[in-house]
Amino acid sequence: MRIDLHTHSNRSDGTDSPRDLIRHAAEGGLDVVALTDHDVMVGWDEAQEAADEFGVQLVRGIEISTEIDGHSFHLLGYEPDPDFEPLTDELKRVLSAREDRIPETLARLAENDIHLTLEHVRAQSLSAASLGRPHVADAMVATGQARDRDEAFAMWLAQGKPGYVHKYSINLLDAIDLVLKAGGKPVLAHCLARDSADYVTDELFEKLADAGLVGLEIDHLDHGTLERAHLRVIADRFGFVQTGSSDYHGTGKGPSFALGANLTEPEEFARLLG
Ligand code: AMP
Ligand code: ZN
Ligand code: FE
Ligand code: FE
Repeated sequence: MRIDLHTHSNRSDGTDSPRDLIRHAAEGGLDVVALTDHDVMVGWDEAQEAADEFGVQLVRGIEISTEIDGHSFHLLGYEPDPDFEPLTDELKRVLSAREDRIPETLARLAENDIHLTLEHVRAQSLSAASLGRPHVADAMVATGQARDRDEAFAMWLAQGKPGYVHKYSINLLDAIDLVLKAGGKPVLAHCLARDSADYVTDELFEKLADAGLVGLEIDHLDHGTLERAHLRVIADRFGFVQTGSSDYHGTGKGPSFALGANLTEPEEFARLLG
């Protein structure tokens, strides 16, 4: 069984439609794939139709923008009720914050002689329900002002760079609670990657366990051997399910983020959703 629990379609900042993503997953020999767009669930229906057509098991997921004490974390939620209003209301706040920060981002870039209009960004996000920095990066590439997404982030858009603008995110402990109340399973995504790693302590894991966190994403391209080993010790200590996934974004990230680049063990998948 090949199980990939974290992927993005063009409903957020991936480049495949949900249908193409599922088709690619089937062609790549995946048995189970989770669609986890940033802060939206709008790709689920199209993905489910494709999953039925191509013989793949779809896990309906979401990657929620959260923060705690000013540090940002991504929380994966698997199979939450899409009609649970306390969760969808919070997601609406995040989505409008995503829209609101684009003009501010463009103003800051203009101060640095990078010139983009809202139309440039819109042209790169026609299918997206959730706007992100990658769409701004794509607009920079399309107008010849950056080579690729990675360069745009490294020079302009990553946290601490001139074009970075903070956006409202849901408190991490509240987000765990909302996913649980929506009947879903919260799993902390790539917590030892770039922005969040400094804030990850044993004390934080204790708080997350108390809040009801179910799993930790461990096998992810942003984690090296040491990070993975450390997180396995933590997962054993707290009884967290251990997941692995590609964080596929189509052509939006390099080939090392290909579908199936990291996988979740069937035993862990059974513990998560069995
Ligand atoms: P946003 O949702 O606007 O906060 O943007 C987050 C997305 O940008 C994530 O899905 C990442 O895939 C992508 N991203 C974040 N940091 C980088 C980076 N340094 N290089 C390339 N992509 C990045
Ligand atoms: Zn993304
Ligand atoms: Fe993420
Ligand atoms: Fe992701």
